[in-house]
Amino acid sequence: MKVPVLDLREQYAGIRSEILSCVEQMLDSSQFILGPAVGALENDLVNYLKVQDTIGVTSGTDALWLALKALDIGPGDKVLTSPFTFFATVSAILNVGAQPVFADIDPLTFNLCPEKTEDVLRADKNHAIKAIVPIHLYGQPAEMNAFVTLGKRYRCAVIEDAAQAIGAQYHEKMVGGMGELGCFSFFPTKNLGSLGDAGLVSTQDSALAAKVRSLRTHGSTEKYFHDQVGSNCRIDTLQAAFLRIMLPHLNGWIAARQRSAQYYDEHLKKYVERVEIPHRIANGTHVFHQYTLRVKGGQRESLRRFLTEMEIGNAIYYPLPCHLQKALKSLAFTKGMFPESERAAEEVLSIPNHPNLTQQQQDYVIDAIKKWTTC
Ligand SMILES: *Cc1c(COP(=O)(O)O)cnc(C)c1O
Repeated sequence: MKVPVLDLREQYAGIRSEILSCVEQMLDSSQFILGPAVGALENDLVNYLKVQDTIGVTSGTDALWLALKALDIGPGDKVLTSPFTFFATVSAILNVGAQPVFADIDPLTFNLCPEKTEDVLRADKNHAIKAIVPIHLYGQPAEMNAFVTLGKRYRCAVIEDAAQAIGAQYHEKMVGGMGELGCFSFFPTKNLGSLGDAGLVSTQDSALAAKVRSLRTHGSTEKYFHDQVGSNCRIDTLQAAFLRIMLPHLNGWIAARQRSAQYYDEHLKKYVERVEIPHRIANGTHVFHQYTLRVKGGQRESLRRFLTEMEIGNAIYYPLPCHLQKALKSLAFTKGMFPESERAAEEVLSIPNHPNLTQQQQDYVIDAIKKWTTC
């Protein structure tokens, strides 16, 4: 049996005709750039995320870049984040001219550790760190109460990288609405994915919203008059229209991911000597963008090979932490600086978990892991 990590064709089968008629409407209207679907999607997402404002942008990467720009972060500034994230979190910091600094992760959740974050902030005597960027990795909220408190205490902004966690809640609050700004990605494989690149910035602050909105169109509010230097970061209207079709399905897709995660939990927890199931925080909901195991005893490659042989999709997010990436060589980070991130990079393995996963497929995956643990 083949079990893919994701099955988007199946996921969109039920909305295919809506998507096709949306393309026809777009051809008829010819409003390709910032057409009415953009404002409508932004409004839908204001309601969904319970925030003051949202701005549709080109990608999650640009959402992060725009959030940093809107806070006037640039050369001479530092931004603190986790080394265990997709590289875009870090490249956005570098692309505004700022310098990334890291604090290690909590080994249970894989998310930025608040205590280690405070250690780094405390040591930052000349207050170069202007923002903290926690990532809600794999779909589980970072400890936002702690980061919001740290932000106030050390006068740093907090930007949520919520690319993997749309719909997740922390103390009953939606992710993306707790920091100064939230950044989302609608890359096709994300929990709410478009049919191409797209992203979103969310905020509770109308002044910041206005700034991001202007930055997304070359820093202008009036055509050909530029108050600041931005770029072309507009969400594509067609993608916005597609996302409006998908958004009403998001909660159902999340519920399906949570159900299959629960099923995995129940059947895999007994192999704790070999694989650890995902830890869940007490006051949050995990939307299981990824269902990620920690494979113990240096055995990840063995399990990975075994699953691949059985045609079970699997993936490593991420095999090399950001501080050890070649692109950051000039910053002179070395191995051993963030040991939990380095260990996670060696031990994590994500197994198929998506809205269209059948119980039969899950049983096949569970059975394969069981076989592996006894061989
Ligand atoms: C996907 C992702 C991004 C980047 O989003 P794109 O839309 O691909 O540019 C940023 N951060 C994290 C944590 C992500 O998973």
